[in-house]
Amino acid sequence: MARVVVIGAGLGALAGAARLATAGHRVTVYERSRTYGGGVRALTRDGFTFDTGPALLHLPAVWRDLFLKTGREPLESHVTLRQLDPGAVHRFADGTEVPLPVTRSGLIGALDAGLGAGAGRRWTDLLVRARAVWDATRRPLLEEPLTDAPPPTDPYPALRRRGLLRRRVPTLAEVAADELADPRAAALLESYAVAYGLDPRTAPASTTVLPYVEHTFGSWRVAGGMRALADAVYRRCVERGVEVVLGTPVADVPVRAGRACGVVLADGTEVAADAVVDGRCPHAGTAPGRARLTVLLALRGGRPPGAPHRTVVHAPDRDVALAGLFDGARPLAAPTVTVLRPDDASSVPDAEHEAVSVTATVPPHAPATAAGAPYTTTDWSDPATVAAAVEQLAAAAGTVVPELAERLLWHAVHTPADAERETGAPGGTVPVPALAGAPDTYRQAPNLAPTPGRYAVGGWAHPGGGPAHAGMSGALVAGLITEGPHWRGSS
Ligand SMILES: Cc1cc2nc3c(=O)[nH]c(=O)nc-3n(C[C@H](O)[C@H](O)[C@H](O)COP(=O)(O)OP(=O)(O)OC[C@H]3O[C@@H](n4cnc5c(N)ncnc54)[C@H](O)[C@@H]3O)c2cc1C
Repeated sequence: MARVVVIGAGLGALAGAARLATAGHRVTVYERSRTYGGGVRALTRDGFTFDTGPALLHLPAVWRDLFLKTGREPLESHVTLRQLDPGAVHRFADGTEVPLPVTRSGLIGALDAGLGAGAGRRWTDLLVRARAVWDATRRPLLEEPLTDAPPPTDPYPALRRRGLLRRRVPTLAEVAADELADPRAAALLESYAVAYGLDPRTAPASTTVLPYVEHTFGSWRVAGGMRALADAVYRRCVERGVEVVLGTPVADVPVRAGRACGVVLADGTEVAADAVVDGRCPHAGTAPGRARLTVLLALRGGRPPGAPHRTVVHAPDRDVALAGLFDGARPLAAPTVTVLRPDDASSVPDAEHEAVSVTATVPPHAPATAAGAPYTTTDWSDPATVAAAVEQLAAAAGTVVPELAERLLWHAVHTPADAERETGAPGGTVPVPALAGAPDTYRQAPNLAPTPGRYAVGGWAHPGGGPAHAGMSGALVAGLITEGPHWRGSS
């Protein structure tokens, strides 16, 4: 049995802690804030509840596995999950609306009806190639710890049967333009990259696994919001004997005789450990990736029956939006936004009210005085900047939520500056998931750190950001500590 100290109580760290305690280790988690869950939080006011971090669950199998392995219980004994169908409705700049039903035949029919004959087949053919990417890279990229070995190359080009792009690794934008033959279908594909904070003009073709994963494994609402999942994982930790110490920042990880030997807390207390699992963002100053701006809208009047849970309202001008987000050209250019209208009685005071949230991927926060940032940033502490952005998001939401202004009771805003406070990631940046062929900038920290006795977990560790990937990092770190540094994943 090892003494393990875990830094941070983000979802990935808690997943690792629960597994380690189940394997018999003595685990203590030190969390600097007064609550657990990191970026997985909720705002509750006047009977309304909104997710302020991620609001949908992908790859629920990761969390099913956690609850089975740490207590032989189904995830569904702890949280109620409902799959979105359609997974999303896309509203394009020309006003066309296309739902994405979960069945393959429904999907083809809806895309043909919305975008013209052949659109459905082109999209599903792309998903077939994306499936091959998933099959080829899932194990080395997601299920094995990151080692010194070169990451898998992007298998997508070899799957293409034609065209010049077969000979080199195309970007996602090139795949979209070349294979989908319609700017709206291209916008559909690119929107998955943007939602994860990736620039489709530079993201590898393997980014096609993101829509593949959503179409194949679904997008799920956790009843009560994602915070209910964080609550369940926290409870599981406590049941397994993990000690979670809140309001206690870790200041340092001392090394003795070449080995991490514990942590030093902010008050100077030294805590000895055989293994230190670090769930913090390792980047100082700026971190690679983009952030999220979310506007929470408390509305009078009930949610209309049949209203889509998720609508993606595409940017009126794709080039301007991408330049604003990634090139620093005009940070407040009207972005693509996601409008969520959950059908969940626990998120509203009664049936005569509706909770709507509107999210966009935005540049991370940095005070206007910050100089030399290698990435485009915005000063999200500036009220005028926030107000202008809220206007843009509300205007986009107004295209799919009728009478939005008339129904508005109040609104609240969750900015990248808030996310920075909650997670400690500079700028409130959200880490991206691991992708084959992605630039090294997006390679997350190896789970086994160069210093013996030290490990990295969470979205800033392999295999990257998002609740599912962070949950996988917890499994990888638990495997490495329990089985030894040569462990290469469960077979
Ligand atoms: C606003 C927002 C929106 C998001 N939306 C999405 C989305 O739509 N889709 C998606 O896939 N992902 C999204 N994410 C990312 C997702 O929430 C995370 O990748 C996932 O929850 C995993 O988080 P984590 O384990 O890395 O921990 P984090 O959530 O990053 O938490 C890290 C924890 O470490 C603690 N900590 C930091 N420093 C110290 C210290 N010195 N001592 C002790 N504790 C410390 C922090 O207080 C925090 O609790 C979003 C994140 C945010 C913030």
